[in-house]
Amino acid sequence: MTSLIGSFPSDPTLPQSSDVVVIGAGIVGLSTALELARKGLKVAVVEKGLVGAEQSSRNWGWVRQLNRDFRELPLMRASKDLWEGFAATTGHDTGFRRTGLLFAASDEKSLSEYQHWVDGAKDRGVHADLLTPAQTKAALSSAKQSWRGAIYCKEDGMAEPSMAPLAIAKAARDLGVSFHQECAARGMEKSAGRVSAVVTERGVIKTGAVVVAGGAWSSMFCASLGLRLPQASVNATAMRVTSETRMVDCPIATSTFCLRPRSDGGYTLALSGRGTLDLAPRGLLYARQFLPTYLRRRKGLKVRIGSAFFRGPGAFGRWSLDRASPFESMRILDPGPDTTLISAALASLIDAYPAVKGVRIANAWGGVIDSTPDAIPVISSVSQIPGLFLSTGYSGHGFGLGLGAGRLTADLIANDTPIVDPYAFRYSRFFDGTALGGPSGM
Ligand SMILES: Cc1cc2nc3c(=O)[nH]c(=O)nc-3n(C[C@H](O)[C@H](O)[C@H](O)COP(=O)(O)OP(=O)(O)OC[C@H]3O[C@@H](n4cnc5c(N)ncnc54)[C@H](O)[C@@H]3O)c2cc1C
Repeated sequence: MTSLIGSFPSDPTLPQSSDVVVIGAGIVGLSTALELARKGLKVAVVEKGLVGAEQSSRNWGWVRQLNRDFRELPLMRASKDLWEGFAATTGHDTGFRRTGLLFAASDEKSLSEYQHWVDGAKDRGVHADLLTPAQTKAALSSAKQSWRGAIYCKEDGMAEPSMAPLAIAKAARDLGVSFHQECAARGMEKSAGRVSAVVTERGVIKTGAVVVAGGAWSSMFCASLGLRLPQASVNATAMRVTSETRMVDCPIATSTFCLRPRSDGGYTLALSGRGTLDLAPRGLLYARQFLPTYLRRRKGLKVRIGSAFFRGPGAFGRWSLDRASPFESMRILDPGPDTTLISAALASLIDAYPAVKGVRIANAWGGVIDSTPDAIPVISSVSQIPGLFLSTGYSGHGFGLGLGAGRLTADLIANDTPIVDPYAFRYSRFFDGTALGGPSGM
């Protein structure tokens, strides 16, 4: 099993009651817990595996507004401000650095899509620059390739996925949040139709509010409550490479690879827009809703049927609350890297940077992205079950959004004025006849 993150101690005992129970200690659950504690609420976080061990420590670490779906842009602006101020307000370091971030265009079509994004973002208060081929070449000085241009946002940056979840967990603990790892939530109890308790493998916590922040497992958890949550699982591969020569100073995306300088001196490398869609019963259930997104992204997707059909978040399963649930039989979702993508990414990198000496792969890993049909998250109450909230389906963009997402989720639970308009993220959009369409942005 690949663990890309250090350990965080659990609290010794499960509380008997809590104002809010957060299910899932990824960046979204952790940030939600922190923000709820800032509002003075008593919070318990239950995690089936270890803090941050799924997507939140396996991602590229990009904190970007650039080329983001416009529906997410207000939340991302809020999130960026929270990243910038995090260390000063909490005393814990996420590894965030404002470095700028760049998307290079290799053809006219990409360039005009980028131009369209820059214009739309300007109307929404986000400034990005369109770079000429010469400026792009200067920005990527050691690369041999030439590009048609690029977009660049100097306000964007990156944080360290091996540090950020732990920093947020520490900040939440400082404010009294309790943490319970290897403690899967098996289900919930209701009283007069409202949430009244969470049943975990280690006991029951009485509560009036529950947040499902279970990443790739949220759809399975919701199904056990009789709720439909369309989610698909996409396996992505990333790796850490080392090199004797400096390659880039900020995260860059090209049409073939993505590269980010890490604080340990190496680089996180991955292929742009490539992954494997594991066909599984739960995904097939929602196939019609996913069709537009699939058609738009199919060029980069391999489709396969493997063990995920029978085991893991996409499989069907039933369990009773007094027996072990599927969450306990897979503590950490760790799909392993795709070796063909590793070789292809390395070849693309060496092609772009032939003069770079001694490029080596230090390690590689896989991660499962939880995607919704319209590739934006659900951050919402659930009208069918008062007291239940969803914050999930971040569709490959949730690390950068994480701090803002936690704030918005906490605002909804506390019934405070939300930091941004949550309408685009409502759960009911999947069922109220809204034309979901496909994703926009990266
Ligand atoms: C390879 C890769 C690259 C990415 N790159 C970026 C990037 O550069 N920038 C960006 O913004 N985003 C990126 N993402 C996406 C980002 O990592 C995710 O959107 C984000 O981490 C989601 O956070 P989360 O808290 O919702 O989910 P997770 O981090 O997956 O956490 C969910 C947690 O819930 C727990 N859980 C589930 N069910 C239960 C249960 N029943 N009981 C208790 N615990 C439960 C799980 O064990 C898990 O720890 C990338 C993702 C991948 C895989």
